Amino acid sequence: MISVLDLHKKFGDTEVLSGISVEINKGDVVCVIGPSGSGKSTFLRCLNVLEKPSSGKIIFEGNDLTDKKVNLNLHRQKMGMVFQHFNLFPHMTILDNMTVAPMMLRHIPREEAESKGMEMLGRVGLADRAASYPSQLSGGQKQRVGIARAIALNPKFVVLDESVSALDVSVQAQILQLLDELRDQQGLTYFFITHNLGVVKHFCDRVMVMYLGNLCELSPSHALFDKPLHPYTRSLFDAVPRPAVRDGLDTSGVLEGEVPSAVNPPKGCPFHTRCPHCTDRCKTEKPAIREVAPGHLVACHLYD
Ligand code: SF4
Repeated sequence: MISVLDLHKKFGDTEVLSGISVEINKGDVVCVIGPSGSGKSTFLRCLNVLEKPSSGKIIFEGNDLTDKKVNLNLHRQKMGMVFQHFNLFPHMTILDNMTVAPMMLRHIPREEAESKGMEMLGRVGLADRAASYPSQLSGGQKQRVGIARAIALNPKFVVLDESVSALDVSVQAQILQLLDELRDQQGLTYFFITHNLGVVKHFCDRVMVMYLGNLCELSPSHALFDKPLHPYTRSLFDAVPRPAVRDGLDTSGVLEGEVPSAVNPPKGCPFHTRCPHCTDRCKTEKPAIREVAPGHLVACHLYD
């Protein structure tokens, strides 16, 4: 469905995406994880061309979205967005929140937009709250509206930016189940940003691990959790605090140091300043990403 080819994005002289390539297939649930400043949100914004890439290609259903001649609005309508903070209009009823985009963007008559809005609210179990205002709904209900609103425009591809992170665990499970049902019913493809490793493990088919604007590992989810390869990914999984028997939490896996600034990134491997396996070669030569098992790619000299 989407091929991203050698995507770069610069803001001034600062490169925040350094050559990302990935294929997303129809029906996939792909997730991206990485620390703040790794370029996750910029990558997501480039995917639906809210941000113009500096170079590289984004091929969506055979059309290159970086080509000036392509009608971006047409393709953006096939991409839904679900945000962490719901982004509902507080002064509008839930039904009006559902109908405003179809009426304004697609010029759908009010009656038809309301009928579709009610159908979608019914699908997420909120038809009886159509006349309520966002302030009268719980966080989980607001996120259900956010999802209903995103899929009311019949997208093929839905981007979810930390969309379940703010919800409590039982509500998260309900929202993930809803997303799963909608994927089956409508053949949706999802692209997730989350820092929640439980969501990644149980909901995503494939995982992209990013660090300082680079893709350092790309893998089927089960393979990544069975055997993470890149030292950053290993540190990420090791950093999940475990209860220690006597002395509080065991945080022995926590990485030392800070993520370097993208304004002045390290030469060689972007992770070398914090990597426990760093060699002289790592300080000067950036590792290429390579496939080391079917579908499992890693950018690290340890696997040359
Ligand atoms: Fe560590 Fe070197 Fe691999 Fe980078 S290339 S992750 S510094 S071992």
